[in-house]
Amino acid sequence: MTLSKTHPRYQSLCIRERLTDGVRTGITSQTGLIAHGRGEAFDYLLGERTTDSAMRSEEAAVAMLLAASHPVLSVNGNVAALVPGEIIELGRVLNAAIEINLFYRTEERVRIIADHLRIYGAAGMLGEYPDAALHPLPPEHPRSRVCKGGIYGADVVLVPLEDGDRCQALVGMGKSVIAIDLNPLSRTAKAATITIVDNVVRAIPNMVELAIRMKDIDADRLDDIISRYDNEEMLRAAIEEIVTRGVGRV
Ligand code: ATP
Repeated sequence: MTLSKTHPRYQSLCIRERLTDGVRTGITSQTGLIAHGRGEAFDYLLGERTTDSAMRSEEAAVAMLLAASHPVLSVNGNVAALVPGEIIELGRVLNAAIEINLFYRTEERVRIIADHLRIYGAAGMLGEYPDAALHPLPPEHPRSRVCKGGIYGADVVLVPLEDGDRCQALVGMGKSVIAIDLNPLSRTAKAATITIVDNVVRAIPNMVELAIRMKDIDADRLDDIISRYDNEEMLRAAIEEIVTRGVGRV
């Protein structure tokens, strides 16, 4: 389908098209489309832009990833379809490992995503050969399967579009978890150490820019940014943003 750039929902329709292409090529799951629908509704309510509070969360997240000793960026089917080049670039600038980690894992899908990311320049990516399980999730469950040298051993994990159970499992294992989730009310948003209430298509490029700007700042300054950050305050700010915008429109 050819989309007109003047269409008021042009950006949103382009994102949908990338995801439906992702389903066609086996990168994105059908449930990934439903998850996107939930996110899209919140994005509409937030004005489809990076709010000031989201930018503050992105800054704190980059500080935390730069200060980490073993940072890992988790990639699922939606992220691989929407921001493949950008997530690889973020890993490169932050010197963070990339691990493919799927909620609906099949070996075929992992291979397709890995090949797709390699086209965008990924090298040494993890997730194709998981050798550890996230507890307390059942070890036989595909969504618990991770790599010892990746998510399992990480001190800080970035999980765009995570589900509440896995987010809680990661936090329970003592990790700092950075979630990107447009729904400030989700279990993930509440459980994460830092929640970025923004669309991954804006959040990841913003974080690349921030990482380039912040990568030489010293450890004390990074600690200062992290310690001043208050996740509950940022979630409240996102909810207020939705309410204020809504009231202004009726
Ligand atoms: P939870 O278990 O945390 O309560 P959930 O069951 O509501 O989550 P899932 O369907 O597991 O949600 O995950 C999808 C989440 O990802 C939703 O909260 C949705 O808002 C968010 N999401 C979807 N697309 C995007 C996107 N492009 N950028 C950021 N967040 C997104």
